[in-house]
Amino acid sequence: MEKITRRHALIRVAGATAGLAAISACQKSSGVQCAAPGQLTRSQQAARDGRQYVEASKVSGKTCTNCTFFKTAGGDCGTCAIDDMPANPEGYCISWSQAEGAQYKKTGGQHA
Ligand code: SF4
Repeated sequence: MEKITRRHALIRVAGATAGLAAISACQKSSGVQCAAPGQLTRSQQAARDGRQYVEASKVSGKTCTNCTFFKTAGGDCGTCAIDDMPANPEGYCISWSQAEGAQYKKTGGQHA
């Protein structure tokens, strides 16, 4: 059986703390909710559901950021010009239309 010294215990605690800090930082950068359920009225949510809006695009190369209808608001979230509701830069809906001059790269995954 391995004998755990005080030094080994401190090293393990420091490693675990660093790991938790890294996970926390990742969640902050990708966990932005711009139009989460509960933030919209029932009619707004119905409109969003009709266009199959999601906060994180699963369609390769297509996000609100490179959509012609996306308006940046300077913060973590933007606005969709179609419905004037919050839009996540990483979001997507079936009304997506490539913005002029925007890059659309097929990088694998699902295509629409
Ligand atoms: S139309 Fe464009 S900006 Fe608006 S929600 Fe859909 S993908 Fe995002």
